Amino acid sequence: MNGLMARALYPCAHIPDLTYDYLEGRLPALTTLRFKAHLAMCEGCAEFVSLYTLAADPVRFLDETPPPSELVELTLSFLDKELDRERGTAERDSIGEP
Ligand SMILES: [Zn+2]
Repeated sequence: MNGLMARALYPCAHIPDLTYDYLEGRLPALTTLRFKAHLAMCEGCAEFVSLYTLAADPVRFLDETPPPSELVELTLSFLDKELDRERGTAERDSIGEP
Protein backbone atom coordinates (compact mmCIF):
# COMPACT_ATOMS: atom_id res chain seq x y z
CA MET A 1 0.00 0.00 0.00
CA ASN A 2 1.30 3.45 -0.81
CA GLY A 3 0.36 6.92 0.30
CA LEU A 4 -0.83 8.18 -3.05
CA MET A 5 -4.56 7.75 -2.43
CA ALA A 6 -4.08 8.80 1.16
CA ARG A 7 -2.58 12.06 0.01
CA ALA A 8 -5.50 12.63 -2.32
CA LEU A 9 -7.62 12.71 0.85
CA TYR A 10 -5.17 14.78 2.85
CA PRO A 11 -1.58 15.84 2.38
CA CYS A 12 0.57 14.04 4.97
CA ALA A 13 1.75 17.40 6.28
CA HIS A 14 -1.77 18.15 7.55
CA ILE A 15 -1.99 15.03 9.67
CA PRO A 16 0.04 16.32 12.66
CA ASP A 17 -2.18 19.42 12.76
CA LEU A 18 -5.33 17.33 12.74
CA THR A 19 -4.12 14.70 15.21
CA TYR A 20 -4.62 16.78 18.34
CA ASP A 21 -8.17 17.79 17.43
CA TYR A 22 -8.90 14.24 16.36
CA LEU A 23 -7.83 12.88 19.75
CA GLU A 24 -9.89 15.58 21.46
CA GLY A 25 -12.90 14.65 19.34
CA ARG A 26 -13.05 18.14 17.88
CA LEU A 27 -12.85 17.31 14.19
CA PRO A 28 -16.04 17.58 12.10
CA ALA A 29 -17.47 14.20 11.08
CA LEU A 30 -16.32 14.49 7.47
CA THR A 31 -12.82 15.52 8.50
CA THR A 32 -12.66 12.59 10.93
CA LEU A 33 -13.68 10.26 8.13
CA ARG A 34 -10.99 11.58 5.78
CA PHE A 35 -8.43 11.55 8.58
CA LYS A 36 -9.18 7.91 9.35
CA ALA A 37 -9.19 7.01 5.67
CA HIS A 38 -5.75 8.59 5.31
CA LEU A 39 -4.43 6.60 8.27
CA ALA A 40 -5.87 3.39 6.85
CA MET A 41 -3.87 3.93 3.65
CA CYS A 42 -0.77 5.69 4.89
CA GLU A 43 1.53 3.68 7.16
CA GLY A 44 3.74 6.63 8.04
CA CYS A 45 0.86 8.75 9.31
CA ALA A 46 -0.79 5.83 11.10
CA GLU A 47 2.48 5.27 12.94
CA PHE A 48 2.77 8.95 13.72
CA VAL A 49 -0.74 9.07 15.21
CA SER A 50 -0.20 5.94 17.30
CA LEU A 51 3.07 7.37 18.65
CA TYR A 52 1.34 10.68 19.27
CA THR A 53 -1.45 8.90 21.13
CA LEU A 54 1.04 7.03 23.30
CA ALA A 55 2.92 10.24 24.03
CA ALA A 56 -0.20 12.32 24.64
CA ASP A 57 -2.04 9.91 26.95
CA PRO A 58 0.21 10.32 30.03
CA VAL A 59 0.01 14.09 29.62
CA ARG A 60 -3.75 13.93 29.70
CA PHE A 61 -3.80 12.01 32.97
CA LEU A 62 -0.88 13.69 34.71
CA ASP A 63 -1.36 17.41 34.40
CA GLU A 64 1.86 18.29 36.19
CA THR A 65 3.94 16.48 33.57
CA PRO A 66 5.62 18.93 31.18
CA PRO A 67 4.97 18.40 27.47
CA PRO A 68 7.28 15.62 26.25
CA SER A 69 10.12 17.04 24.18
CA GLU A 70 10.16 13.75 22.27
CA LEU A 71 6.71 14.63 20.96
CA VAL A 72 7.84 18.04 19.77
CA GLU A 73 10.91 16.56 18.10
CA LEU A 74 8.86 13.77 16.57
CA THR A 75 6.44 16.28 15.09
CA LEU A 76 9.21 18.52 13.79
CA SER A 77 11.21 15.70 12.26
CA PHE A 78 8.06 14.28 10.70
CA LEU A 79 7.25 17.63 9.11
CA ASP A 80 10.85 18.09 7.99
CA LYS A 81 10.84 14.72 6.33
CA GLU A 82 7.55 15.38 4.57
CA LEU A 83 8.62 18.84 3.41
CA ASP A 84 11.93 17.47 2.15
CA ARG A 85 10.14 14.76 0.24
CA GLU A 86 7.70 17.19 -1.34
CA ARG A 87 10.49 19.62 -2.17
CA GLY A 88 12.51 16.78 -3.72
CA THR A 89 9.55 15.70 -5.79
CA ALA A 90 8.96 19.23 -7.01
CA GLU A 91 12.61 19.61 -8.00
CA ARG A 92 12.65 16.32 -9.85
CA ASP A 93 9.47 17.27 -11.67
CA SER A 94 10.90 20.58 -12.83
CA ILE A 95 14.08 19.03 -14.26
CA GLY A 96 13.91 18.82 -18.01
CA GLU A 97 11.37 21.55 -18.38
CA PRO A 98 12.35 24.52 -20.51
ZN1 LIG B 1 0.17 10.21 5.22
